[in-house]
Amino acid sequence: MPIYDYRCNQCGRRVSVLWRTWAEIETKSPVCSRCGSHDLKRLVTRVAVLHSEDSHLENLADPSAFGDVDENDPKSLARMMRTMSRETGEDLGPEFGEVVDRLEAGQKPEDIEAALPDLGGEAGGSDLDMM
Ligand SMILES: [Zn+2]
Repeated sequence: MPIYDYRCNQCGRRVSVLWRTWAEIETKSPVCSRCGSHDLKRLVTRVAVLHSEDSHLENLADPSAFGDVDENDPKSLARMMRTMSRETGEDLGPEFGEVVDRLEAGQKPEDIEAALPDLGGEAGGSDLDMM
């Protein structure tokens, strides 16, 4: 599957668009994942093609695969987590969904951890396990 990078003329963000087919590139217009604008300019010839399970996994390990994740932006984090969950196909459990929902609502990760004390530790684990 071809990936092209675009620069959004509305918000200035660089977005990577994954196309399912080469024909889509010609027939559909890309959408900025941040502001929803269609006013995107294609950046020069960076094309990655995913064709095997291996390259798929490598792509996952590369943070840039998710676009620019802003760690200070809960919504950006939530989007990255959703992408990760979808890409891996793993069921990350109800707590994961809760965290993503809260991130999308704009809560800070610290606040979410405070609100969900079971997160990040073994269930019933002792304080000694905390780093
Ligand atoms: Zn934009």
